[in-house]
Amino acid sequence: MTQFNRRNLLKGAAALPAAALVTGAAPALAAGHSATAGAALYSAPVGNYRITALLDGIAPLGRGFFFGSDAIDPLMAEVGIGPDALPAPVSAFLLQSDDRTILIDAGMGEQELLGPGFGGVTPGLAAAGVAPEDVDLVILTHAHPDHLGGLIRDGSAVFANAELAVGEVEAGFWTDAGMMAQAPEESQGLFQLAQTVFDAYGTRMTRIADGAEAAPGLSMMLSPGHTPGHSIVRIDGGDRQLMMIADTLHSADVHTALPDVGFGFDSDPVQAAASRRRIFDMVAADKMLVAGSHVHFPGFGRILTDGDAYRYVPATWM
Ligand SMILES: [Zn+2]
Repeated sequence: MTQFNRRNLLKGAAALPAAALVTGAAPALAAGHSATAGAALYSAPVGNYRITALLDGIAPLGRGFFFGSDAIDPLMAEVGIGPDALPAPVSAFLLQSDDRTILIDAGMGEQELLGPGFGGVTPGLAAAGVAPEDVDLVILTHAHPDHLGGLIRDGSAVFANAELAVGEVEAGFWTDAGMMAQAPEESQGLFQLAQTVFDAYGTRMTRIADGAEAAPGLSMMLSPGHTPGHSIVRIDGGDRQLMMIADTLHSADVHTALPDVGFGFDSDPVQAAASRRRIFDMVAADKMLVAGSHVHFPGFGRILTDGDAYRYVPATWM
């Protein structure tokens, strides 16, 4: 039975305005950088793709979003996080190949659920030389506002030529009238927003089965618990694999050291913790580069095992 725990949803303080953009470097890959007005740009290839992190804004998360362990406060003190502040970037990722322009998630856009100051994805794309109509596919990891809000403006599709790939479990959940009916009052808006976005893309929306590819080399894998159909995206770059782990973690500090800690927006915190350990074990064993939606921007690093827990190591920048 899916639980809802979004009491903290409206507690956030004002977010910081942001339109920064950095392109992720896999360590030891050839990389380059350039600058345009107001945006830093850093790029590196992963196989046939070049991946770029786009900062949509900063989510003003606080200590109250994390629960289930007495070790959270001592950990925050140890790593130098203030007693309440756990700000988290909201990032989307641009993938470009010779013939594809793909976005993974689209940020909060004009939605103000966590305050103002979001909407950096479209200006970030512009700084990378990408117009909204150039995007031919958007892969949605899950249907929360900070990931799909940027897909629409005034109810219409921002990416007029893009297909929208959504995991079939996730798409099924948010379009299920029965689920919506039993969801609490404060979650009704989430269902409405998801359905508005899905409707805006209409027949251009495709439902992707667990493990199937949304585009060549880009497979979606279920990592449920944050939402019932939350998915991560494996980017097959030949010798180098990158796992875009989306909201498998919400603090690179807290959720690696304390992987079983619950998070206020998780639909099922126990299932989310089980998914977190499973995915962390996978990327640690394979020494995969990871990218996270809410990991210290630009969000590229590695997750290593550390006793019964894990450690996050940011990717080396060149
Ligand atoms: Zn998120």
